Amino acid sequence: MRESSPNLTGLRPTRAIVDLDAIAGNVQALRAMLPKSTELMAVVKADAYGHGAPWIARVALEAGAKVLAVATVSEGQELRFQGIAAPIVLLGSIEPDEVVAACRASLEITVADEVLLEAVQLAARSETLSSRVAVHLKIDTGLRRNGALPELATSLAARIAVDPELRFAGIFTHFASADEPGDSFTADQLQRFAQAIDDIRDAGVACPPTHAANSAAIITGQGTHFELVRAGIALYGVPPSADVPLPEGMTPALRIESHITRIFRIEPGDTVGYNRTYRAERSTRGALIPIGYADGYRRSLSGRAWVGINGHRAPVLGRVSMDQIVVEVPPGAQADIGDAVAILDGNAAQCAPGITELAELMGTNGYEVLTGIRRRIPRVYIKDGEIFGVRPARGGQT
Ligand SMILES: *Cc1c(COP(=O)(O)O)cnc(C)c1O
Repeated sequence: MRESSPNLTGLRPTRAIVDLDAIAGNVQALRAMLPKSTELMAVVKADAYGHGAPWIARVALEAGAKVLAVATVSEGQELRFQGIAAPIVLLGSIEPDEVVAACRASLEITVADEVLLEAVQLAARSETLSSRVAVHLKIDTGLRRNGALPELATSLAARIAVDPELRFAGIFTHFASADEPGDSFTADQLQRFAQAIDDIRDAGVACPPTHAANSAAIITGQGTHFELVRAGIALYGVPPSADVPLPEGMTPALRIESHITRIFRIEPGDTVGYNRTYRAERSTRGALIPIGYADGYRRSLSGRAWVGINGHRAPVLGRVSMDQIVVEVPPGAQADIGDAVAILDGNAAQCAPGITELAELMGTNGYEVLTGIRRRIPRVYIKDGEIFGVRPARGGQT
């Protein structure tokens, strides 16, 4: 799937490099943690956590994922538009007036109340569709977000199961604290989920495949015995939290690099950037790098983050601007215009922050760092160690 020729000439120097081999390796590593009968759902919502959903979806399927998951109808439509035929589950709750579009794109719809179920039933009857509409029932076992409470779940399950226009494709729940392995709440949720499933069976409803585990639960081995698990963050080689490290051999797939566009002297007393928050005490060199908060390199990194230049840490001087930053070329470091700059890199030798470090500096988690990387940063895909394709920047767009 080449969206343009894999030629980097003319590409913006600030770019995200996505290693598809790392994604494939992570899928295999996750599958190796599961019982043989448990299948992997690859969660590619939010543009595959910023990696580029169609690219990641294809590689994850090739590496053995059986199902894809997205949050919104348009995310599902994008995958269909790219020719992906695998099952796609809409994890998020959608509006009744989005149901027809979801059905036409053959997306599997998550239902948690009667209003949405009735909209799905109506669409299934009135639309001419090539197959029955697949429905997943979401049960709230404690997250208190979307989901039917267990007492309502049995009647919803019965209504889905008897409708000849629908295919009952799954029952699931979602954990609140699986990334805090010391918290017994996950076990409580699992117990409530098991009870809800028993109640549905006792009511004479044939149970479809069930799923509960996210990345953290897969790694800690909770709820992996159901027919499916839903892996997001771990697929990308990023730990769900500091308390749930990834097993050996799983690697981050994305790094961000740029280059030096200008080098200049900074003399004692000079100030750098908006509002003059950095004042030089000694003579040094500044390097201009074309990345800023409009790329997702947040302003909260001002004066706090660093980048890697030729094996040295180069601190950000003063404020992060919308489109650029200034870093100090460390004394003794070699640096020229055009030299590569590591902005975000899991390889310690590059001397740049990894995702977890950058997230800490931004006061957030790895999920938000990844999903905050804007579309004006082009993605360069690597497969079998070579450039496989490029997704160009989308000007001015998120
Ligand atoms: C996003 C999401 C996931 C994936 O979570 P990770 O922690 O990224 O593995 C799983 N299930 C649901 C319902 C989600 O919304």
